[in-house]
Amino acid sequence: MTERTYLDHNATAPVRPEAMAALMETLAATGNASAIHSEGRTARALVDRARAQVAALVGADPRGVIFTSCGTEADTLALTPDYMRGSEALSFDVLLTSAVEHSAVLRGHRFAADKVEILPVDARGRLKLDELDAALARHATAGRRALVSIMLANNETGVIQPVGEVARRAHDYDALVHTDAVQAAGRIPISLAELGADLISVSAHKIGGAPGAGALIVADHDLRPAPVFGGGGQERGRRAGSENVPSIVAFGAAAARAFADVEGEVVRIGALRDGLESALRCEFPELVLLVGDVDRLPNTSCLALPGVPAETMVIALDLAGVALSAGAACSSGKVGPSHVLAAMGVPERIARSAVRASFGWSSGEADVERALGAFRRALPGLLRRARAA
Ligand code: PLP
Repeated sequence: MTERTYLDHNATAPVRPEAMAALMETLAATGNASAIHSEGRTARALVDRARAQVAALVGADPRGVIFTSCGTEADTLALTPDYMRGSEALSFDVLLTSAVEHSAVLRGHRFAADKVEILPVDARGRLKLDELDAALARHATAGRRALVSIMLANNETGVIQPVGEVARRAHDYDALVHTDAVQAAGRIPISLAELGADLISVSAHKIGGAPGAGALIVADHDLRPAPVFGGGGQERGRRAGSENVPSIVAFGAAAARAFADVEGEVVRIGALRDGLESALRCEFPELVLLVGDVDRLPNTSCLALPGVPAETMVIALDLAGVALSAGAACSSGKVGPSHVLAAMGVPERIARSAVRASFGWSSGEADVERALGAFRRALPGLLRRARAA
């Protein structure tokens, strides 16, 4: 069988060797992290080490880390009108978010649908800050307090949002700020303190940890979102349910490696991605690079061959040995028009052709070469058919 090239890290990254070792070792051990016997205390110590490793990845205090089962659960935990700060109840009347968020945020979760306001983005997918200002001012004038949730980087395009600026503006109106960093974590350096956001979501399987773990990290560990479900007092009463110790420990191991490598990986992976993009654009002038000229993750490329449906391109490249995604692939595997590209005003004909290549820790030069070879084999036939249609 020919070697495959995996360019779908934004969907799920391969498990890193150190995470795999940590997972297997912890699976083989016994111990509920809440038990007081020695097995339990060992599990607790491992979870707390992972807590420090995940906190370091985003430059936060380990006490703010609330382990969850995935990024979606972390977003769900954050998006609630009801918080406590110490013994003081805080409530938020409206959720302000952007049109390009992942569906894990866009649905607004525990905010009623009519309390969710979706803010527009510009043609490059960046939040229109003047619209944020106007919404904050409007709600404040009406006596409504806002929770603002703006992603750090987009899963389809890699576009990085001005979250620091969002936090500064929102805090002027006493709003709370959440950012979904599920795609940004491990791909660019992150400091929660520098960003100034109050809450940040991350997910293990995007950084080379095992599936089954995520985290919501709170900058001020006294701030507590209303729990999603009731039960035991795990995670200091912030997330009930026995901790998934093996996945959490693997998450910690992946976070530690990603943190240690991130500065170098930004350069290495950026060069791989840029190499693929420039070779493709030179050989196939018909190929459209969506959002090339904006601050974006170094690993993500969003490309379209107008007239060739994205799923056709994904299948042709898959047969040629390369795994990448249709830009708008949703969790069910069905492909519909991308809400992200639509919000950016990308014409539907181009949006329907958009595919996403995403690199990561396991990618190397050989992947770029193999991907180029696959594009060379697949694209001429696809182009001929698109012209004949
Ligand atoms: N947020 C973003 C930006 C994502 O890309 C994803 C997954 O693709 C999620 C949230 C959901 O994360 P998880 O798959 O861990 O639930």
